[in-house]
Amino acid sequence: RQAAYAALRDVKPVSRDGQRIQVKINAGLRDDLANLSLTGADGIGLFRTEFQFLVSATLPQRERQTRLYRDVMEAAGDKPVVFRTVDIGGDKTLPYLRHDDGEGEENPAMGWRALRVALERDGLLKAQARALLEAGAGRTLHVMFPMVAEPWEFDAAKAVFDGQLAYLKQQKKLLPEAIRYGVMLEVPALAEQLDLLAPKISFLSIGTNDLTQFLFAADRSNPKLAERYDWLSPAILRFIQRVMRSVEGFDIDVGVCGEMGGRQLEALALLGLGIRSLSITPAAVGPVKELVAKADLGEISAAMKGWLASPPPDLRAAMAEWAAARGI
Ligand code: PEP
Ligand code: MG
Repeated sequence: RQAAYAALRDVKPVSRDGQRIQVKINAGLRDDLANLSLTGADGIGLFRTEFQFLVSATLPQRERQTRLYRDVMEAAGDKPVVFRTVDIGGDKTLPYLRHDDGEGEENPAMGWRALRVALERDGLLKAQARALLEAGAGRTLHVMFPMVAEPWEFDAAKAVFDGQLAYLKQQKKLLPEAIRYGVMLEVPALAEQLDLLAPKISFLSIGTNDLTQFLFAADRSNPKLAERYDWLSPAILRFIQRVMRSVEGFDIDVGVCGEMGGRQLEALALLGLGIRSLSITPAAVGPVKELVAKADLGEISAAMKGWLASPPPDLRAAMAEWAAARGI
């Protein structure tokens, strides 16, 4: 099996009905870069920049950030890398970042984390923005903001980047050739205002790890709940279906970067919902490429419409049976 997946390394993911699917990897450290060539992935769809902060004993200085981001883009060559600004706070606390409200939040996942920290401690975001803009000199830079719940949070974060860009321009520094800004959809509230946000962004990446946690009100790190809710539930799939409908007509790419996309049946469901870009754990690239090659997207999207219009009692079982009947 492993050998079969390795053989898929240089095979581009194209569905049985001829549609090119983007299969990218999630990464966060220098060590992850080898996975790009090992898997033959289309790029890094989620680079978790907080990893550098988490493995560091002190706040990584701007120059160190710049070096990492530059190395990552260099290693990726022509392939795009989506840098997500720091998602720290909550359960990923940093000893060197003081929390105003003392230690220990009751609901850290819903607490002072990610962009909420970055907008308040804007020195942190300014340094990261400058590091990314400098590292992206002469290239296309992809920047993504985590945990956006309201469109103004995107505006505020982008304004920080605009400020740093203006500074670099004034210093006559080499700038990125293009900057594409995107947002993670992982807080359900944002789905209700996508029409307001979509005109301002280039891409949207659905983070199914946090999205599931918030949709079901089920702690993603609680092992007692790990098996309780299914990604192949009408609740999640209908949610994503509505998201896809609400961005129709806007010129943005929509992808998935949560763990859901790395499982074959789940990936099939996402393709059926119109998702054409998956960013997944490197080990899942082979299995997902294999799945894409077997899937007819016209067929799966018609089936998905039917299942979501009137869901069978066990959607996972129905999908598995459907897939098996087609040799998927
Ligand atoms: C997610 O929430 O789905 C996601 C991809 O981000 P993280 O797992 O880093 O929270
Ligand atoms: Mg998340």
